[in-house]
Amino acid sequence: MRILSGMRPTGRLHIGHLSVLENWVRLQQGNDCFYFISDWHALTTGYDDTAELKHNIREMLLDWLGAGLDPEVSTIFVQSQVKEHAELHLLFSMFTPLSWLERVPTYKDQLQQLGQEGKDISTYGFLGYPLLMAADILVYLADAVPVGEDQLPHLEFCREVARRFNYLYQTQLFPEPQALLSQIAMIPGIDGRKMSKSYHNDIAMSATPEEIWQRVRMMVTDPARIHKNDPGHPEVCLVHTYHEIFSKEELEEIRSSCREGSIGCVACKKRLAAKINSVLEPVRERRASWAAKPRLVEEIIVEGADRARRLASCTMQRVREAMGV
Ligand code: SF4
Repeated sequence: MRILSGMRPTGRLHIGHLSVLENWVRLQQGNDCFYFISDWHALTTGYDDTAELKHNIREMLLDWLGAGLDPEVSTIFVQSQVKEHAELHLLFSMFTPLSWLERVPTYKDQLQQLGQEGKDISTYGFLGYPLLMAADILVYLADAVPVGEDQLPHLEFCREVARRFNYLYQTQLFPEPQALLSQIAMIPGIDGRKMSKSYHNDIAMSATPEEIWQRVRMMVTDPARIHKNDPGHPEVCLVHTYHEIFSKEELEEIRSSCREGSIGCVACKKRLAAKINSVLEPVRERRASWAAKPRLVEEIIVEGADRARRLASCTMQRVREAMGV
């Protein structure tokens, strides 16, 4: 099965991205995976601030490699290095009704949300980003895309575009890619809100043991627990939410110790920090070993783009023939 997925280059990733990447790593076994850094998508909302783009691409790539993506097995590349995405996007734009784009649920939400933050994204590029996404997927004739529930409308849009192309040009060129719905653990930020670098409430995937501890130390616990021996209420505690993700095998014991007041919050946090560190340590080590070989990392990107381009250019040849251009 050919699988495609991508991420916007936001720089260093946080532990909220880890389960997405673990899923990508699992999918590498027995599938033909294409993973790309979608730098053109980053421009749809960040067109006015590109100073960090190249740096962010590199940092994210190192996190991917640290998480275990294998460039020998998967095709790893940067979107803007395979121009066929742009050509297919342009050709699709000729027959995609505006109303399809305007009704994508995230369009109006993001327009409003980013508008309130003072960002003008009432642009042609932003309206068209689901179509660029469809081109990203279809240019590789991908069979499946790992997605969360919130991205299903984008995939349905992509399937509609494929159907319309096949119907208009009387071809079976494009498959209708299926959703690979994955159970992704949602990890809240250290203040309980959605984890995001812009909220400064994240724990970086590459965090050192000391950085992990400093972040965990700041987490809010059960406010009713004043003294170390007070009985606690784990269900209202953010540290407990994290234990549910990182300390599954010790969860019952942590819960009852908290309720009995036999464990203090500092000790409980130290256990959590150690657990997070045990997950991040191999990621950090792999990352550091790749970071020490910048030339090799550069080669991965060049080789990945070559591999992707070979397939994308074959598709484009068939697209042009079908459309008569
Ligand atoms: S002991 Fe642990 S679970 Fe209980 S309130 Fe303190 S930090 Fe939270």
